[in-house]
Amino acid sequence: PPLAVMKGGQKGHDRTKGGPSSKHILFGWEEVSGYDEHMNTIRTYQVCNVFDSNQNNWVRTKYIRRRGAQRIHVEMKFSVRDCSSIPNVPGSCKETFNLYYYESDSDTATRTSPAWMENPWIKVDTIAADESFSQVDLGGRVMKINTEVRSFGPVSKNGFYLAFQDYGGCMSLIAVRVFYRKCPRIITNGALFQETLSGAESTSLVAARGVCIPNAEEVDVPIKLYCNGDGEWMVPIGRCMCKAGNEAVENGTVCRACPSGFFKPTQGDESCMQCPINSRTTSEGAINCICRNGYYRTDSDPLQMPCTTVPSAPQTVISSVNETSVMLEWMPPRDSGGREDVVYNIICKSCGGGRGGCTRCGDNVQFLPRQLGLTKSRVYISDLLAHTQYTFEVQAVNGVSDQSPYSPQYASVNITTNQAAPSTVSIMHQVSRTVDSITLSWSQPDQPNGVILDYELQYYEKDQSEYNSTTIRSQTNTAVIRGLKSGSIYVFQVRARTVAGFGRYSGKLYFQTMTEGENSANEKLPLIIGSAAAVRSVMEFAKEIDISCVKIEQVIGAGEFGEVCSGNLKLPGKREMFVAIKTLKSGYTEKQRRDFLSEASIMGQFDHPNVIHLEGVVTKSSPVMIITEFMENGSLDTFLRQNDGQFTVIQLVGMLRGIASGMKYLADMNYVHRDLAARNILVNSNLVCKVSDFGLSRFLEDDTSDPTYTSALGGKIPIRWTAPEAIQYRKFTSASDVWSYGIVMWEVMSYGERPYWDMTNQDVINAIEQDYRLPPPMDCPNALHQLMLDCWQKDRNNRPKFSQIVNNLDKMIRNPNTLKAMTPLSSGVHLPLLDRSIPDFSTFSTVDEWLDAIKMGQYKENFANSDFSTFDVVSQMTMDDILRIGVTLAGHQKKILNSVQMMRAQMNQIQSVEV
Ligand code: AMP
Repeated sequence: PPLAVMKGGQKGHDRTKGGPSSKHILFGWEEVSGYDEHMNTIRTYQVCNVFDSNQNNWVRTKYIRRRGAQRIHVEMKFSVRDCSSIPNVPGSCKETFNLYYYESDSDTATRTSPAWMENPWIKVDTIAADESFSQVDLGGRVMKINTEVRSFGPVSKNGFYLAFQDYGGCMSLIAVRVFYRKCPRIITNGALFQETLSGAESTSLVAARGVCIPNAEEVDVPIKLYCNGDGEWMVPIGRCMCKAGNEAVENGTVCRACPSGFFKPTQGDESCMQCPINSRTTSEGAINCICRNGYYRTDSDPLQMPCTTVPSAPQTVISSVNETSVMLEWMPPRDSGGREDVVYNIICKSCGGGRGGCTRCGDNVQFLPRQLGLTKSRVYISDLLAHTQYTFEVQAVNGVSDQSPYSPQYASVNITTNQAAPSTVSIMHQVSRTVDSITLSWSQPDQPNGVILDYELQYYEKDQSEYNSTTIRSQTNTAVIRGLKSGSIYVFQVRARTVAGFGRYSGKLYFQTMTEGENSANEKLPLIIGSAAAVRSVMEFAKEIDISCVKIEQVIGAGEFGEVCSGNLKLPGKREMFVAIKTLKSGYTEKQRRDFLSEASIMGQFDHPNVIHLEGVVTKSSPVMIITEFMENGSLDTFLRQNDGQFTVIQLVGMLRGIASGMKYLADMNYVHRDLAARNILVNSNLVCKVSDFGLSRFLEDDTSDPTYTSALGGKIPIRWTAPEAIQYRKFTSASDVWSYGIVMWEVMSYGERPYWDMTNQDVINAIEQDYRLPPPMDCPNALHQLMLDCWQKDRNNRPKFSQIVNNLDKMIRNPNTLKAMTPLSSGVHLPLLDRSIPDFSTFSTVDEWLDAIKMGQYKENFANSDFSTFDVVSQMTMDDILRIGVTLAGHQKKILNSVQMMRAQMNQIQSVEV
């Protein structure tokens, strides 16, 4: 903007008075008429005293107000006569003049002050012409006008004067324009920047802060622009973007709320999007669209996806019954609800069981591939009871079924099973033997399918043909087989018989009679505790390895019987492999050797990816060795402590899944571990966990050197890991292993914390007796702690089976959302007491009222039909019961279980236990 314009011809020059003046002051210059280059008449200031020496002629502008500017620009239009064009001109002739300025807070200049000289005046520059008059111009015909711009600063007083000094030239000053520069008010990058004046130097950059326009938010801060000396904005920094629910319009200068029917979920440059199908907005500026009634979204559905609904019922269920199994097949629902995640659940009810009504099928019914969450529309159901009427409901559910108040739609089918023979006898033991007899016992088939009339045992000498076999009958599940040859191996098979006929023969088992004079001490070993396997020698299961194939490298730990080393195993025709080698220290007794090798004889019977694999044993040279696959990360407890907090929940659940899978395998083999604990799980380099430690000795010996194991009647017990019935009366079963598994879960989720911290063993026993259970470790998802609590059910029949644990963990891995819910860190208070959202059951008089209050009223019939009709029985419900009565949606199962636990807690008024 201009500060002043100075032109010739201004009226009222004060040449006489010495006082302050708002006029231009001439000192030696004259105001005259002339022509510009277009021959227009103009008034100019002129001076041309080239023939007089010592010239000092000044023209001073009026007082010019600064108006905030720091740097002043001056544009001068003038013409200068070329000295050489003037005849006889003296050498003092000049072709330049000087530009000066003088700052002053007020208009106080007079004709004599400031004095006409540099200092007090400040010189800006000497100004020279690019073009001069040519000689022909003397007649005043043509004149060339120069334009020069100069600038100066910083200026700080209220105003200033300019002056032009001639010191012996011939020139005319035609026009002077005085101005400063500024950057204008603008909206850019989503922010408003106010008008900003350029800085004091031509190179100055003056920073200006921007303010986000309405409905925009800062993205990068600070938000800045710089105003340069030419009044141009430059170097933009930071920016604002329209908030969620608003979009940029009018070239990005306005953020406008999304119109109704449109939404924008996040801050940013993108435009509002139209609401997806089956959704709508309730106001302008929506950040999402809400689903219409009866339509839903899951947590993981993108907001752009149409809202979806529950599927209709499966169509045309076809059943084909074969004895006690049935194949069900059906067509997918007509309406998938708009989703692609439809799965099926099967509800099994057996009907006509005498009482007229239907009851939920028991646990033993098998579903292939599984009962819940079927992705294909077929299922094979086996192990049903013979001659029984069943109703199967095939439910269709999808990702939003949980949210619908209507129970899943289902199609049902009724079938009646046929007569069926008993299932196979899977477990046979040798009870004792002599030189000419073997006593065997076996368990009843899992599915007798009727009253067992008797068993048929078939046997023959191993070296003979099966056609020479002998058959004997037994009314009970034991038999003494006499008249055998000494020292011979016989092959045995057994089958059960009912009115429906014989079941299938069991697998073949080999037992050997004693040789004459055989040492009876050998007779007792190695006995596999709790195992279904028969008494056999180590060598039946463990391959003898020649010591020349083994290369020991270094000691990696201390085992019970000697050092544990790492090394290499190179078997003929096989690739060299890394192995762990357990050695038996020298000076062992025969009993120690047996106990040591018993671990190999047990391990050798197993073949599962989550059970430590035996490569073989070295018994024919010294030291005696057990060689197993090598597990790079050692034992799980130490590994977790060394990597505290380093894994994702999914990784931890993956480890737990592996352990559960290994334990399921062992339980299926009827092997009871008795010492399941993180210290007895080994971890390889891929984080695969394997169950190990099949030693027996510590349960048998009375050695109190390790405080983890407390002597109890008949053996030593790791109290913190052991189920109460196993501590109290040595009832070790797969269900007590499940308890220990719950403790392992707790160890894993707390990265190797000691269960029950520093409580004494007796304190632990007392606390468990009073229904205290370990609280969830820090950051432990509720679903996992719930599974732990299930494993710690007092009644071992209520604990989940390992197969259910594996399924449960698989489900969590498939739906990581179920692992999101956490309970806030508690200080050892019994968990259910923390859940205050559940109403107090004692304010209701019936179970139905209570179900209404917890918003699970749709299951009233399920509860009543299964006789869960009083608070006493409801308070004892387990997850299994809830599943069995037909609650198939995970969200509902959890809600009911939490409420049941709350009820139990309210009944018991469980006190928090100090830890
Ligand atoms: P154990 O006698 O089985 O308790 O073994 C003692 C220690 O040796 C264990 O705690 C492990 O650190 C280590 N160890 C045992 N077996 C293996 C293996 N297969 N791979 C790696 N380390 C092992």
